[in-house]
Amino acid sequence: MKQLTPVTTPPAYIDIFEEIRDNKKGAAKAALFGAQAAIRSRFTDYEARFTADTLQGMPPSTLAGIKTELRSCYGRNKSMEALKQAIKDAQPKGRLQWCPYCGATTPGSYDHYLPAEEFPEFAAHALNLVPSCTRCNSTKDDDWLHAGARQYLHFYRDAIPVVPFLTVVITSNAAAQAVGATFAVQQAGMSAASWALLEAHFRKLKLMELYDSYSNDLINTVLRSARSHINAGGPSAADFLANEAQENADLYGDYGWRAVLLREMSVHPHLDQWIAWL
Ligand SMILES: [Zn+2]
Repeated sequence: MKQLTPVTTPPAYIDIFEEIRDNKKGAAKAALFGAQAAIRSRFTDYEARFTADTLQGMPPSTLAGIKTELRSCYGRNKSMEALKQAIKDAQPKGRLQWCPYCGATTPGSYDHYLPAEEFPEFAAHALNLVPSCTRCNSTKDDDWLHAGARQYLHFYRDAIPVVPFLTVVITSNAAAQAVGATFAVQQAGMSAASWALLEAHFRKLKLMELYDSYSNDLINTVLRSARSHINAGGPSAADFLANEAQENADLYGDYGWRAVLLREMSVHPHLDQWIAWL
């Protein structure tokens, strides 16, 4: 789990939007032109609130009357395709192999951080489009705010705390020759505000359950890789797993679930036994 890099400006986010708008035709284009001043003002507000961390107080949309036209800007449009490509290009190589929200599956969609249904004017705002897997996207849906507090990390703006907030306990069952993992999150010294946001993010997306379940396959896969590594003359399974953990941490953070799991496996006293069970 690691912060993403916003697309760099210039062009300004409003210029990117207006290029998308200019590709539209007929009545939709005319309606969007008619609301140009209001849309510009809302873009300015989003960007100020993004910087000040006050997105949770964004006033309701003033543009509900042209919701369909605004939302259609996210549809098929060569400038929107270029924006999606720019979002991908802004990230370090490999960062988008996994969905930023869960770190577990492929990000095949874009989440509208402020929901497009409620805030249609941001349907094509570059800062509001976050790569996401379809599971996270549909789970989050319009449910982004609760009691005035954001419920999900905004991966362009929220720094991921560099403290051990994710932990794992690995359990092995000798009779069944099976290895499993149980994840948990903890405050680990982060501020109350950071913890409230991170805890809500993990709880709403059911990430503990997801990691526990995905761990079964990952454990088996890496144990087999470790065995191949040793059979090919590699020094030890522990070294192999520690290296794999570090490579994961470099791309997805020290407390991404794969790095946490691989690191814990690498120092586990039963590691060699697990490989013998394969
Ligand atoms: Zn996801």
